[in-house]
Amino acid sequence: MKETEVLARISQAEETVWLNNGKTAYEEAKGFLALNLDDMAAASARLQRFAPLIERLFPETADRHGVIESPLKEIVRTQDALRASGELPPGRLFLKCDSHLAIAGSVKARGGIYEVLKHTEDLALAAGIISENDDYSRLADYRDFFSQYKIQVGSTGNLGMSIGIMSAALGYQAIVHMSADAKEWKKQLLREKGVIVKEYRDDYSRAVKEGRRISDADEKSYFVDDEHSKDLFLGYSVAGERLKEQLDQQGITVDEKHPLFVYLPCGVGGAPGGITFGLKQIWGDHVHCFFVEPVQAPCMCISMASQKGDQVCVQDYGLTGKTDADGLAVGRASAFVYEMMKHVVSGIFTVRDDRLYRNMKLLKEADDFIIEPSSCAAFEGYTSMMKYKDTAAYCRSVMESAEDAVHILWATGGSLMPQQTVEEYLAKAEF
Ligand SMILES: *Cc1c(COP(=O)(O)O)cnc(C)c1O
Repeated sequence: MKETEVLARISQAEETVWLNNGKTAYEEAKGFLALNLDDMAAASARLQRFAPLIERLFPETADRHGVIESPLKEIVRTQDALRASGELPPGRLFLKCDSHLAIAGSVKARGGIYEVLKHTEDLALAAGIISENDDYSRLADYRDFFSQYKIQVGSTGNLGMSIGIMSAALGYQAIVHMSADAKEWKKQLLREKGVIVKEYRDDYSRAVKEGRRISDADEKSYFVDDEHSKDLFLGYSVAGERLKEQLDQQGITVDEKHPLFVYLPCGVGGAPGGITFGLKQIWGDHVHCFFVEPVQAPCMCISMASQKGDQVCVQDYGLTGKTDADGLAVGRASAFVYEMMKHVVSGIFTVRDDRLYRNMKLLKEADDFIIEPSSCAAFEGYTSMMKYKDTAAYCRSVMESAEDAVHILWATGGSLMPQQTVEEYLAKAEF
């Protein structure tokens, strides 16, 4: 399909896929990227330094000694159930359960918490409170010191939860600027934790813009900038080495004969982009990363297909930007992530909301696992891979030299959803 055809389908809010003709061998793509393996290793080391503090502040992380990581589960029954509705690509199917990451219950527990910790380290080092070789758990005794500072962020919900919960736990004044798409229960949960929630009637870009403006006017305030932050991106990227460890434990190798396909829900792009960057650092051309976006908010897809980065938004294509996949309700992609991914991502699928509920229900019934609608976008890449001519050809060409493959649906959020919210979504799957 040509780019113009993809964009025409997008503007009709029809499901489609864009396959990246600009993808190059990773060795070559690497040369264009603003970050490298050393940056990722530094992020990983920083998270290690903070593990004792995390363990002290959040005892639920004790089983992993303060390392926030999620399980990787094979979902055979779900795979069987999906097979009934059409051809699937060959290989085993797994769910990466970032929906159940400790503290924030979403993938934002990677990037968001990392950025708060990075800022905390910068402040604490500058004030002489710690040195890099100290036991960072001592930082829990400095609530008074951190309470002079503010941390602010614009969010559709989950980023606010990760930044808000972590910032409040350290003693900061946390302020979250929530877009109109944010769910009521997410705002309420934050307020219960002592976070100030400001509500906007506009979309995500507006909440970010206002939050940034207010924060920039205050010298003791730090703004977590989802549209530009390298720190967020690096926090997400650490997922690469963590996944490698988990695949190793399960005796799974990734190489030319055993390719890995990963399907990631995409909003502004930071989470799927950062994770893809981390995976590519490890497996290069043997890992194939596809993003998935709602048909009403395919901001990264239009950025890529039009090659206009953040110069275009979904409203330019006559779309509303509205979706029940609140984590993906973003109208304009991150220019930084666009640049990082344009030679790297394999393709981008779009998906209708009704399919999200149905797959949410299917996963619950088959493998008794609950994730939020945004997370369910991941299914679309896997279930439609063989449906579209372009991606079917891509998959066949990868499999020509392969013996077996592994597919991972990246579940990005859901464990904190109230029961009533879960039931409302599941009820929508009936229709
Ligand atoms: C934020 C989020 C995403 C996408 O992350 P971006 O960095 O916005 O692309 C996906 N799923 C859920 C549940 C999220 O909260």
